[in-house]
Amino acid sequence: MSIPAPTEATRWRCSLCGNLTRFDVTRTTRAVEFVHLDLAGEPRVDEREVLEDTIESVRCRWCQATDSVQLVPRPDADEKDDTPAE
Ligand SMILES: [Zn+2]
Repeated sequence: MSIPAPTEATRWRCSLCGNLTRFDVTRTTRAVEFVHLDLAGEPRVDEREVLEDTIESVRCRWCQATDSVQLVPRPDADEKDDTPAE
């Protein structure tokens, strides 16, 4: 079961314990990174373009449940006419 990503108006919530703030997210990302190395050879990513980003699972840090995370509205969510992604 895949979990939709939160949007500007929604957030994740664990339906078992009520956790809103701590999750382990397993995701698959394809990205192009502009890697900028300094003269000592230390790399730094200056730009990152995400081509694909798939959330595979979200596990609650509090109770370790993996299938209990749901999307709920954010408390300060106004009536924005954003359609939720996916
Ligand atoms: Zn939980």
